[in-house]
Amino acid sequence: MKMSIHPAVDAGIKTSPATRSLWGYINNKPKPGGTLSCKCSKNPVVIKITSQAAHNHLCGCSQCWKPEGALFSQVAVVPRDKLSVTKNASKLEILDENASIQRHVCKECGTHMYGRVEDESHHFYGLDFVHLELSQDDGWPPIQFAGFVSSIVESGTNPSELDEVRARVHSLGLEPYDSFSPQLNDFIASRSSKLNYKNKVY
Ligand SMILES: [Zn+2]
Ligand SMILES: [Zn+2]
Repeated sequence: MKMSIHPAVDAGIKTSPATRSLWGYINNKPKPGGTLSCKCSKNPVVIKITSQAAHNHLCGCSQCWKPEGALFSQVAVVPRDKLSVTKNASKLEILDENASIQRHVCKECGTHMYGRVEDESHHFYGLDFVHLELSQDDGWPPIQFAGFVSSIVESGTNPSELDEVRARVHSLGLEPYDSFSPQLNDFIASRSSKLNYKNKVY
């Protein structure tokens, strides 16, 4: 059986993964982005992003929205103040209000349009999670790595297949991790320490 990592990479990746720190990304006011539409053929939900995205990657966790048959989702972050819903906002609902990343989902087609963090003490506060395959626009950053690879087991993959999946991810020129990439983990660590400092935990 042919395995689908994700439609965006199954035929190979053309661009080389970019390396850019998330702090640099936040501070450098990146160039404008584009629009993302849900899968509804009539009256789709449309969101507009007026910034470049960062840390575009494949995610194997069971929470991120995946296309039919794919083992991974494709997910990136954008600043929350650069994202707005421009069409059919009434079709959106929050999948789980108690989740730390609240997924705003189209009630009709089930597409996750964006994930938002409302807890100001959370390390990802200020960033929204989006699936760039929902955009027809050019200029988004290439997929940079595959995170939470072993988590695909939670969605039904046999653990014995993980080595094959890692090898496939590697053959695409992407590094497979069982958490975030080291760069993203560094960002989380530095942000957590700053937030703790701000909140006078020390
Ligand atoms: Zn829809
Ligand atoms: Zn995920």
